[in-house]
Amino acid sequence: MDLKGKNAVVTGASRGIGLQIAKDLAQKGVNVAIVDIGPAEVAQAAVEAVSAYGVTAHSYSCDVSKGESVKDAVAAIRKDFGTVELLVNNAGITRDNLMSFMKEEDFEAVIAVNLKGVFNMTKAISGLMIRQKLGRIVNISSVSGLMGNAGQVNYAASKAGVVGLTKSVARELASRGITCNAVAPGFIETAMTKDLDNSPLVATIPLGHMGQVEDVAQAVVFLLSSDYITGEVLRVDGGIAM
Ligand code: NAP
Repeated sequence: MDLKGKNAVVTGASRGIGLQIAKDLAQKGVNVAIVDIGPAEVAQAAVEAVSAYGVTAHSYSCDVSKGESVKDAVAAIRKDFGTVELLVNNAGITRDNLMSFMKEEDFEAVIAVNLKGVFNMTKAISGLMIRQKLGRIVNISSVSGLMGNAGQVNYAASKAGVVGLTKSVARELASRGITCNAVAPGFIETAMTKDLDNSPLVATIPLGHMGQVEDVAQAVVFLLSSDYITGEVLRVDGGIAM
């Protein structure tokens, strides 16, 4: 699919991987709705970085874990953009700890943002896509969801859930011209992994180094452009989960 002139919603797009996805889409001529929970100044800086490519960009303050917040944001996006053809569910959090020490609220918070957030946003945006019989959805999972990770039972469960959700949505919406895929990054240099540089885990990456946000964004844009890939999980992980 030619992405030029299409409208995209990218969650968690004011920094990290999401911001890079938004910029790569803008470079292809895609207008971007930046959905984020954080401070308005950070979102405004992202809007400026994205609109520098000559496309339309707006930001929407939204907590993806809350259905009402998502409904309000999607109503505002619909008003500003009319239609949405592309959705990237990228917003995510970690609350790592060994299971014995993990608090129930930290388990619930991670599932709420990383998994329920994907459900909330996909449900709301796919309504628009079904009407136009066209849509491309990419969800950001993680290699933790594919192979597990000590200290991340909440995060790994949420990201494994994203894989199941992705394949179910792919099956449900295929007849409506909508594809749904996931990207499973390994260790990517962002604020989320700032303490990992010297971790022994990094030494186990076959390619020998952490990935960059550009590596993930490239895979997302590829899947958004494809007409015949659905229900796929594409690892971008330097080989760690092969
Ligand atoms: P990041 O730098 O921490 O950025 C996360 C983004 O999600 C931020 O913009 C954040 O907003 C937003 N966000 C958090 N909670 C939200 C909520 N309730 N509603 C709306 N937005 C929310 O993380 P990242 O490293 O770019 O990660 C992006 C995605 O890739 C996540 O799903 C993550 O799990 C996944 N991933 C990352 C790695 C990695 O190595 N970095 C590996 C595998 C998977 P604020 O700016 O307001 O906090």
